[in-house]
Amino acid sequence: MDKITFEDRVAVVTGAGNGLGRDYALELARRGAKVVVNDLGGSGSGEGASASAAQAVVEEIRAAGGEAVANTNSVATREGGAAVIQTALDTWGKIDILISNAGFLRNNRFEDLTDEQIDPIINVHLKAAFYVGQPAYRAMRAAGYGRILFTGSASAMFGHAWQANYAAGKGAMLGLSNVVALEGSAYGIQSNVMLPTASSRLEAEMTPGFMEIPQFAKSFEKADFSIAEGRVVPEFNTPLALYLVSEACTATHGVYSSNCGRYARVRICAAEGWVSPAGDVPPTLEDIASHFGQIEELGDYSEPMTPYDEFTSAVKAARKQGVLA
Ligand code: NAD
Repeated sequence: MDKITFEDRVAVVTGAGNGLGRDYALELARRGAKVVVNDLGGSGSGEGASASAAQAVVEEIRAAGGEAVANTNSVATREGGAAVIQTALDTWGKIDILISNAGFLRNNRFEDLTDEQIDPIINVHLKAAFYVGQPAYRAMRAAGYGRILFTGSASAMFGHAWQANYAAGKGAMLGLSNVVALEGSAYGIQSNVMLPTASSRLEAEMTPGFMEIPQFAKSFEKADFSIAEGRVVPEFNTPLALYLVSEACTATHGVYSSNCGRYARVRICAAEGWVSPAGDVPPTLEDIASHFGQIEELGDYSEPMTPYDEFTSAVKAARKQGVLA
């Protein structure tokens, strides 16, 4: 296998001042990319701002001999998103790679979520994907090449109590990326979603209150976390994220999970189902009820109901593949 490099590539990583984004930026630069390190520098719940987070990562990259510039705009506004991409165009004349990664949490029960907990979360996850994605896509389309990675979450794909706001914003990445992948296919643009798993400052924003939901608490208690040990550092997510934005990757229109060293495709699938036999006559509710078992039948798929169930599936895979005893 030839070494995968990003020589002559220009990458933008949003929210790259901490956690996952920081490691993506460092590794992209190590492998030759010129990197725009964007970060507003706020708290784990999206309050405040500081230029130091982005600047520190830029300095780290430069000290190691790499090329990077800082951008401290918020991606949660149209002007901010445009300015992030403009930094790449002004500095290096192009953008090849966008990793839309910035984000934060504001957890609460579904019935208690306020606009202060809903709007900023939708803005930083869903709308920001448009605000940075659209100007990046336009430049990529003109150049005939682009790699876009949107950051989703297992909390959205499988569900996580007390995160309805976050799951709504993150779940939208699926539809958005699917369409970007389809429209972009004519212009050399690929788009995928990755669901990362890492210990980061967002853990401080998790509230144990969600354990009050018996089913959820049961999933958590039953979860087999044995694969997680030592594998929850951001560095375990970077190889898949960077492969997906490399020239070597031809996959597009996909969703991929990075779960403590287990890398797997995640997909929405439609089962064979039941076909109504009555010609032009629609079936009755009772027809549906009596065939509901066949409609629901999926075959041999793993269907996590929470991120904790997914841990257990990852451990099962690790045991089957001899990685765990
Ligand atoms: P983190 O808090 O360490 O890093 C996120 C960064 O985004 C921070 O540096 C923050 O300042 C920046 N940011 C926030 N709002 C911004 C804005 N408006 N404009 C620009 N920058 C902004 O968190 P992380 O764990 O590295 O998370 C990175 C991404 O991965 C997030 O989108 C998060 O929702 C997602 N994610 C994380 C996990 C996990 O287990 N850590 C799981 C699923 C998804």
